[in-house]
Amino acid sequence: MGLYKGQQAYLEEKFQDRVTFDRLERKLYGHDIAAIPKLVKPLIGSTVPDAVVQPQAESELVELARWARRQAIPLVPRAKASSGYGGAVPVRGGIVVDFYRMSGVVSVDVESQEVTVQPGITWERLDRDLAKHGLTLRLYPSSYPSSTVGGWLAQGGAGFGSYQYGYFRDNVTSARVVLPDGEIEEFTSDGLDLVADAEGITGFISQVTLKVQPLGEIDVVAFSCRTASDLQGFVESVVASGLPVWSIMFINPSMADMKNIAPSSAHGGEGDTARVELPKAYISVVTFKSTQKENLRENLEELAHRAGAQTLSDDIARHEWDNRFKIMLVKRLGPSLVPAEVIVPVSGLGVTLDEISAKIRHPVLKEGIIVKDGRGGNPEAVLLGFIPADERTLGYNFMFALSLSIMKIAKKHGGRAYATGMYFSGKAEEILGSDRVLRLRDFKAKNDPSGIMNPGKVIDGGFVDKAIVLGELFEPVARRMGNLVASKVGERPGAEIKGIPGDVAWFAYSCSQCGYCVDTCDQFYGRGWESQSPRGKWYWLREYLEGREKWDQRMVDTFLVCTTCELCDLRCSASLPIESSWMKLRGGLIERDGWMTFPPFEMMAAALEAQGDIWAGYRKDRAAWFPADLAEKHGPGGSAKNVYFAGCTASYVENDIGMAATRLLDVAGVDFTYLGEKESCCATPMLVAGKWDLFAETMKRNVKAVKDAGADTVISSCPACDMMWRKVYPEWAKKLGIEFGITAKHYSEVIAEKIEAGEFEFPPNGSEPVKVTWHDSCHIGRASGVYEPPRSLINAVPGAELVEMSHNRQEALCCGSVLTLIKDPAVAADIGKERLDEVIETGADTVLALCPCCQFQLRVSAQKKEVPVDVVDLARFAAGALGYDFPDPNPEVAAQWAVFEAMISLMTPEGFAELMGSMWPQLIDAMPLKMGAMMRLMGKLPVALELMKPLFPILFPRLLPLMMPKVMPVMLEKVGERIPMPDYMREQMPELMPKVMNNLMPHMIGDVVPLVIEPMIDYLKGK
Ligand SMILES: Cc1cc2nc3c(=O)[nH]c(=O)nc-3n(C[C@H](O)[C@H](O)[C@H](O)COP(=O)(O)OP(=O)(O)OC[C@H]3O[C@@H](n4cnc5c(N)ncnc54)[C@H](O)[C@@H]3O)c2cc1C
Ligand code: SF4
Ligand code: SF4
Repeated sequence: MGLYKGQQAYLEEKFQDRVTFDRLERKLYGHDIAAIPKLVKPLIGSTVPDAVVQPQAESELVELARWARRQAIPLVPRAKASSGYGGAVPVRGGIVVDFYRMSGVVSVDVESQEVTVQPGITWERLDRDLAKHGLTLRLYPSSYPSSTVGGWLAQGGAGFGSYQYGYFRDNVTSARVVLPDGEIEEFTSDGLDLVADAEGITGFISQVTLKVQPLGEIDVVAFSCRTASDLQGFVESVVASGLPVWSIMFINPSMADMKNIAPSSAHGGEGDTARVELPKAYISVVTFKSTQKENLRENLEELAHRAGAQTLSDDIARHEWDNRFKIMLVKRLGPSLVPAEVIVPVSGLGVTLDEISAKIRHPVLKEGIIVKDGRGGNPEAVLLGFIPADERTLGYNFMFALSLSIMKIAKKHGGRAYATGMYFSGKAEEILGSDRVLRLRDFKAKNDPSGIMNPGKVIDGGFVDKAIVLGELFEPVARRMGNLVASKVGERPGAEIKGIPGDVAWFAYSCSQCGYCVDTCDQFYGRGWESQSPRGKWYWLREYLEGREKWDQRMVDTFLVCTTCELCDLRCSASLPIESSWMKLRGGLIERDGWMTFPPFEMMAAALEAQGDIWAGYRKDRAAWFPADLAEKHGPGGSAKNVYFAGCTASYVENDIGMAATRLLDVAGVDFTYLGEKESCCATPMLVAGKWDLFAETMKRNVKAVKDAGADTVISSCPACDMMWRKVYPEWAKKLGIEFGITAKHYSEVIAEKIEAGEFEFPPNGSEPVKVTWHDSCHIGRASGVYEPPRSLINAVPGAELVEMSHNRQEALCCGSVLTLIKDPAVAADIGKERLDEVIETGADTVLALCPCCQFQLRVSAQKKEVPVDVVDLARFAAGALGYDFPDPNPEVAAQWAVFEAMISLMTPEGFAELMGSMWPQLIDAMPLKMGAMMRLMGKLPVALELMKPLFPILFPRLLPLMMPKVMPVMLEKVGERIPMPDYMREQMPELMPKVMNNLMPHMIGDVVPLVIEPMIDYLKGK
């Protein structure tokens, strides 16, 4: 239907940057985790909303509901869209209401063990907050890292902890709801029937009060059963025993089998958990509070053995529990999964599982949760089944129908479907009970007669719902067809597709869209829209592979701007190598396909080609920072087993890092030399910029310099340099056929080893105790796995008290550098502030860091956002304890940032247009073929200029390269006026600027021309 201009204007005024009408963004908010078969999609129709809004207060929901009701615009609540029933999918257009910005804790009542929250808070975040009060969740879904409190209440369900605490709804004290007419109502006890499982059709949940429990250790024990009926027997005996178990989950033999063959985490640092070999059996994992451990475990074992089950090793039990959220690993074997979710009474569990195995020829991977007090007070099992399949094939359509077979089998044994959503409104009475359906219908008739609140859901079916009823009628035929499909299982990436490497294409389909990676991606929380998240990018790639999307500069930028923090890799429920997938695309996009990289990278590349560094310093000045008294022992020209690699930023901007690191290495008695002018940039910026030829060339130069110094080990201070020498150079050397043989170490590792061996210690210095916190840089942490050595170093400094930030070690948040800083300085400051806020929370006023880029970014962010935090380099801090003093890097950082910021804003279409506007006389004179004179003449005949106007966009791109050499001197002068460059940079501009302009203008001219035509005409008219 679309929104009228006036309606858009209203939303823009109310929500400002919290509303989007952008086509791609809307598409990304038009789906949930379900991969709908191609043959079914037409029945649903378009699911792209007309707008997406992100309210941040209940009052905004009230206004929106009132307005939308008047305008008859459908409203679709959406939290993390981690459900697969289509509840959050708009089927009749309208506005998606995203609860991302309503995610705070309102109050915590420790005494009554209740917490009140906004609906968009994720379980993980809430649990983290509760821990500060000595509390934890009673129960949560296995989508805990992404799904929300409001989403689970509206969707309904059971999860970990449901054995003891039942369905989520049973743990909710009250829910505040903004009704379709904008009134607010608080629902409690039976009233919650109108909110729970209602998929938002009755209103927006704006606040939830839920019961929680005291925080405590959890113990876990795992058992294997040979048969489904043994599993049932075991569960029944536990229920009958009344033992205080908290949670029982289980998997079937097919799932165990697939878990054994699923790829393990590709994360580079310490993220890998040791693999365990699971027996091909029914495996149940039972958890209980540690305080109850002693005889509880024995009792459980006794019950299990009586039921014919075996106790599995503690390794298996712990592994399964620790990886309980990684349930999408098996999706990589599909790369799609046909889902089927049902609830069956425990009394029918064995026979249901057996019948599914007998009737479905494909492996059905099952995972289950036991609810002790289910419907009617009887124990129930929630069964989630997955059949590995490939949504790109025709067969997927038929295999999808097998989920109906699973439902039919469950129903036969007293079970029911799990939820309604968009697909099962025909089963609403079975799922919710006829009384509730009646109440919902009544409520809707009274409060939402025109049905604007999430239409097409729960009790309001569409075509697809009818198709499902039909499908059930023909289930035996559909099952036969589904069973006949030849489907392979296993990760099997093929050849490159449309320029996308085969493995990346496979991962795009393997992504479950679960959303675990969304909130913690700095690019997402810096901007707040799905397109920036890994999940959004995978979805886009899928659309691209299907031919429904095309690359454009904006999308290229979206992939390029990833900070390479690798947090998503760690969080991914399918352990997808996300960051490295984006990395694989960079070179192809820039060098093969010719898209523009970020303009400042062009300046860095030109400087790197000319002088070997990205800061446009002279190569001859590269070693100027090196402490004079160490020159003879460790300075350039020497030869040693170890090379200290300073990197560009320590060499030209934050000199204290290099000075302090070399002092530490020297005092600790490390044999090292420094390459001086022979050192070049490690070239990380060129790698991420997609300028891979220059990267390879620079890498070769560095490898040769290290070998020439007789070294086989490179000790870095900069994590990006470290990552290059540790991971990337060896890979590239192999690719390029270069003999490598160099080991990488970080100086913190070297010093920590010395401390550990008793070969180095800090003298007592009698200084005041100081409280500091530690920022794990992504590249030294997640990329290189170095977490403890910097901490050992800090703890060895007399008087230092280390306090941890809320996200530390492998969970540490990215500072937002460097790519965000280059692309979007304002967003970078927002991201930096998130990290600085965590510093403040610790009570420390100093954050130590070892990455020059993190330090640069945190310093700039602290200044911009006025956060009173001191950013201090780790080596400086440690060497300071040895009595050394170093120059303050802050003035140089501020000066370099001023240059950088001005350069970034100059290198935009607006910046270039403004620059051109300052030099019209010279530009017009520089036009070839006497065109300048002709233009001046036309200026006197205004009509002629107006007639020429449509030609300018064609002429300008052709003329500009010819004019450039002539106007370069004045352009340099004007650039100099706009950018507060140091002398050495100014001197090099005549060499660097033409290269930069040559590389950028072909990409940018199309955007610049529309901005300069009017000003040029005005100039020619003499205005
Ligand atoms: C890996 C994985 C594991 C999962 N494990 C479980 C599990 O153990 N148990 C389980 O039950 N489910 C599970 N799910 C399904 C899903 O995560 C849950 O249903 C979850 O509760 C959905 O929460 P959400 O925040 O993503 O909500 P969404 O999917 O965004 O929304 C769900 C429904 O709630 C409505 N809604 C959302 N917010 C509001 C609001 N504020 N007001 C009114 N209506 C609203 C939406 O319109 C939609 O109808 C899992 C999913 C995945 C991907
Ligand atoms: S590596 Fe970091 S910035 Fe890049 S997509 Fe992953 S989480 Fe986002
Ligand atoms: S990338 Fe991983 S974490 Fe993110 S949505 Fe996909 S499967 Fe989930």
